[in-house]
Amino acid sequence: MSPKPQQKSTPSAGGKNAPVAPKPTTPVVRALRGFRDQLPTEQQYWNHLRATADALATGYGFSWVDTPVLEETGLFSRAAGRQSDIVTKEMYTFTDVDGDTVALRPEFTPGVVRMYLEHGMGSIPQPVKMAYFGPLFRRERPQHGRHRQFYQFGVEVIGSAAPVVDAQLVALAYRFCEQAGLPPVSIQINSLGCAPCRAAFRTELVNYYKPKPRYLCGDCKKRLVKNPLRMLDCKHADCQPYIAGAPQILDWIDDACKKHFMAVVEYLDGMEIPYVLNPYLVRGLDYYTRTVFEIWPTADAVGATAALGGGGRYDDLVALLGGPVTAAAGFAIGLDRIVGMMKENAIVPPQSAAPRIFVAQIGEAAKIKALQLYERLRQEGFAVCENFSKDSLKSQLEFANRMHAHYAIIIGQKEVLDGTVLLRDMDAGVQEIIGMDKISGDLRRKLENGAAKAVAIADITPTPSNSPEKISSKPAKSRIEDSDKDPEHTDLDNETLLEGL
Ligand code: AMP
Repeated sequence: MSPKPQQKSTPSAGGKNAPVAPKPTTPVVRALRGFRDQLPTEQQYWNHLRATADALATGYGFSWVDTPVLEETGLFSRAAGRQSDIVTKEMYTFTDVDGDTVALRPEFTPGVVRMYLEHGMGSIPQPVKMAYFGPLFRRERPQHGRHRQFYQFGVEVIGSAAPVVDAQLVALAYRFCEQAGLPPVSIQINSLGCAPCRAAFRTELVNYYKPKPRYLCGDCKKRLVKNPLRMLDCKHADCQPYIAGAPQILDWIDDACKKHFMAVVEYLDGMEIPYVLNPYLVRGLDYYTRTVFEIWPTADAVGATAALGGGGRYDDLVALLGGPVTAAAGFAIGLDRIVGMMKENAIVPPQSAAPRIFVAQIGEAAKIKALQLYERLRQEGFAVCENFSKDSLKSQLEFANRMHAHYAIIIGQKEVLDGTVLLRDMDAGVQEIIGMDKISGDLRRKLENGAAKAVAIADITPTPSNSPEKISSKPAKSRIEDSDKDPEHTDLDNETLLEGL
């Protein structure tokens, strides 16, 4: 199992190892509004979420899939419903040169269902359990936790109507947040019943709201005509008193849907997964049937303003997209919001235990030897790093310091001739000469003896301001600088050179 994420004592990144913010330059073309770069410093979060998703999806018996980023627009508009926000406002849709109307995927589920049908997955043992992790595109108004390109981890279970599937999906979503290291989340759950239950409820809801339109917000005035269920999760202050008095769908679902829902919550109780019944939870899409749920941060988590994920059952979608009637369910979690919460709550992803070994070289002959040694160590599984594009030893060792390397292997002309290397323990400040052919064994023994400590991935961000002073203020400064002036100068007394670095 991967190590657990940890909570830092102070929420803000700081301290002497904090990366110094680089000075930005405005490029000729900037990233589009709502689209963001994922910087090297952020990869630790994404790697952690990918590893967490992978362990859980595999553990719960899912297979990984991916679908194209671009699909026919009709796939999404049929699935989500023509009145949904995704279809009416948010989809990146355009006509390509062949005249096809295509869209960047705004959600995964329709693509996964299309794939299930197109590849005859209905004829393999059911249910088919698939997991995915990737980018989606919605042209929403960019704001905190809302972007135009964002990432989801999600799963779909196609080919089972059993309520235990719904409960296991909720459990998986809950466990994902838990293992990502988030503060406790709240699972909100409801049932929308099947299509006939929904139709009856819709009529009741419209009758309830009909006399009130002038008191409602602008969006709800439109929803009353186009998508009345969505009025129940309106966040506008004007609409709250009416939501509180509105009919509740759980009173309108038939016995079979009630039985299904009761079984789901019983399974959740059995698995000790906490949940809150929310009779106003409707989700934004037409295709949901029976169980729906959302994952919310609890109020005491920093930055707890929006849902982290959601999902539910969609027993009619496979048929809607041209397949036989096939029950299915799934959920998706918004990873950008998870990363945001991790940062805001000072949750540090687990640290890499790999000790870093820096390979340094002085002179052309040594560079070739160093390249060969680097390849060899990398293939043998050592976590090696280098900066071969620098010729001066000083620059290379500064870099090794910034990478928090535990060992530096230094090869100069003398070492090439002798068939040796200089191995320096960067933490202890001691170095020794060892034979080139013994290096792997020696390193392995030292690492096994616990000589190297874990390196915090968070700390490997280059910190340009710290290291140079640290190195240049040491007694070895002048010798290092000499070697800078003449990179071919390799007649080094390594012991003296590295003293006190
Ligand atoms: P949905 O597919 O709309 O049910 O969304 C599932 C989850 O994806 C949400 O709870 C969010 O965490 C995330 N999400 C949806 N839209 C966005 C967006 N525009 N930007 C960032 N995350 C989003």
